[in-house]
Amino acid sequence: MKKDKCPSYDQCKLLHAEDFIISAEHRQHYKSAFCTKSAAWDKCRRMQVGKKLHFCPDFVLPDSKLSTDEIIDTFDNL
Ligand code: SF4
Repeated sequence: MKKDKCPSYDQCKLLHAEDFIISAEHRQHYKSAFCTKSAAWDKCRRMQVGKKLHFCPDFVLPDSKLSTDEIIDTFDNL
C-alpha cells in the first residue's frame, strides 16, 4: 500500500509543536515538500537524523545541510 505521509508525521515536532522555531508558512512549505510528498520524506534531514541518533534537535530542518557530526557538536554546545 502506498503511504501518503512520512512515518513520523503524527509525532514530528516540526509539524505539531506550537513553539517550534518556524513560521506557519515555512511549516506548510516543508509539509508539502517533504512530509506529504511520497519518497521525499526519506530525504528529510530530520528523518535521517532521527533514524541515526534516535532523536532530532529542533534546529535541524528538513533541508539542513549539516552533517551528523556538525549536528551533534551544535547540540552539545547549546
Ligand atoms: S519534517 Fe521530516 S521527519 Fe518530520 S514529518 Fe516531515 S518529513 Fe517526516
